[in-house]
Amino acid sequence: SAKTKGTAQITFFDESLEAIARQRFDIEQELRRAIKADELRIYLQPQVHANGLTVGAEALIRWQHPSRGLLPPGTFIPIAEESDLIVEIGEWVLTKICQMLARSEIACCPIRISVNISPRHFRQPNFVEWIKQVLCNIGVDPARLTLEITEGMVIDNLSEVVTKMTELTALGIHFSMDDFGTGYSSLAYLKRLPLHELKIDKTFVQDAPSDPNDAALVETILAVASHLHLKVVAEGGETHEQADFLNARGDVIHQGYLYGLPVPMQTWLDDWKLRGLNLVS
Ligand code: C2E
Ligand code: MG
Ligand code: MG
Ligand code: MG
Repeated sequence: SAKTKGTAQITFFDESLEAIARQRFDIEQELRRAIKADELRIYLQPQVHANGLTVGAEALIRWQHPSRGLLPPGTFIPIAEESDLIVEIGEWVLTKICQMLARSEIACCPIRISVNISPRHFRQPNFVEWIKQVLCNIGVDPARLTLEITEGMVIDNLSEVVTKMTELTALGIHFSMDDFGTGYSSLAYLKRLPLHELKIDKTFVQDAPSDPNDAALVETILAVASHLHLKVVAEGGETHEQADFLNARGDVIHQGYLYGLPVPMQTWLDDWKLRGLNLVS
């Protein structure tokens, strides 16, 4: 009957929701354990200017899981973002990066490290104070840090976001708009946000040489960035064709497999020590 069918559907629906909730809960518990067990890792991917100089790197988190191997952030960051766990993870990454920047291998090299900041973390009332404290305690120049935010962070509360960004910008911290053009973009907010950089999303970069629509979008982003005096980082370039396309049209910093894979922090530091100061911009 219709009634039985309805009940069955509801039961099925409830179970699947419950299963999802339970899985989320399990991953969350596991993540809490992983943080204590020191299973999170930071990888760094170089950001390279067209002239060949490495000007910085982006910190990308991974989870070295004891049985499931090296897990990419897409498998656990979205779950962490649903609770204050993302604050704990974000603070862990920022602390590790500040400690790295204070290390002798790179302390003298004026490169910047970019860190992804989740909206929930940025919205913490003490976000600005916390960052100031950690920079001060570890003794790192704020000008070594770039914070990557996303368009979604901005739409809810533009004025609060602007206030916090302005305070951090005054210290020398830079802000980058990640995955630019993929969110709820409004050109109006670009005018109000104290940004230093736009990151062109890899989908645009990868298709630009072959797809006229992506080509037009990339050219538009380059024009906007140029007019607003913003640096441009192109994400996800894997071929010379993609790099050439960009270099022919603007002053672009490349962050893609063509220029370097994300590597464990220690590997990156070892390479850095070997290659020395010729990487400085
Ligand atoms: P994102 O910030 O846009 O980072 C760029 C992503 O593109 C990284 O994926 C990077 O490995 C990948 N990528 C770079 N070059 C290439 C390329 O040439 N080809 C391809 N196919 N991919 C390339 P990853 O490391 O898996 O990170 C995914 C996302 O997870 C990041 O996207 C970021 O949104 C988030 N994430 C990573 N680390 C953190 C973190 O510490 N905190 C937070 N809140 N989010 C993070
Ligand atoms: Mg990013
Ligand atoms: Mg991105
Ligand atoms: Mg992203």
